[in-house]
Amino acid sequence: RNPRSTVGTVTEVYDYLIRVSSRETDLQRRLREETAQLEKSEMQTSPELGQLLQLLVKICGARRTLEIGVYTGYSALAVALALPEDGRIVALDVSEDWTAVGRRYWREAGVDAKIDLRLAPALETLEALRHEGAEPFELAFLDADKPNYPRYYEATLELLHPGGLLVVDNVLWSGRVAGTEDQDPETSAIRDLNARLHQDPRIDLSLLPVGDGITLVRKRP
Ligand code: SAH
Ligand code: CA
Repeated sequence: RNPRSTVGTVTEVYDYLIRVSSRETDLQRRLREETAQLEKSEMQTSPELGQLLQLLVKICGARRTLEIGVYTGYSALAVALALPEDGRIVALDVSEDWTAVGRRYWREAGVDAKIDLRLAPALETLEALRHEGAEPFELAFLDADKPNYPRYYEATLELLHPGGLLVVDNVLWSGRVAGTEDQDPETSAIRDLNARLHQDPRIDLSLLPVGDGITLVRKRP
């Protein structure tokens, strides 16, 4: 701890934040703990982001939502729990194994009927949705492979309802996007998207330091 600091360490403050605001259910916690045993568990959505997504679903009055990047289904479970009975998530991922974990919990929570899981490369599913003239989405959560972020953004914006909200995750990428020396394809793609969003006249935006950074993007009517 910095001896001159009058506030707690980042960990202490985070623990406090969770203690005084998290409403994670027992089922959600069990999914998080089971996932923590898996490879790549650091990809899992944090409880406070899950809860923020739930709040956004309710603020937007969203019924039709899109998720790109499911993993073991934590964010999809959170959103599904917040949606009304007739609400739907079209959920895109490529992994049968990871999403199978989520499916067990969606079923146990009684929300599996709300989640339309499509196992294919997300760019293909997005293209298919565009072709079939799918009904626009009121809320979308972008959280899949980072090199495709700029492409996912364009495809999602097209599928979004005017006034609809897109939440882009990991926009700070552990700080690696600051500066220019890190030219890793994931870092570069996120940096590129952040710069594009900043200048895009089709949207309103706010970049928030929640978790690994999220950008809230509202499609202007
Ligand atoms: N939102 C999740 C975390 C997603 S992690 C949660 O709440 O925990 C990123 C996910 O993107 C992984 O599950 C991975 O399988 C998926 N992914 C990677 N490449 C993809 C692609 N081309 N199309 C769709 N999904 C992809
Ligand atoms: Ca993420």
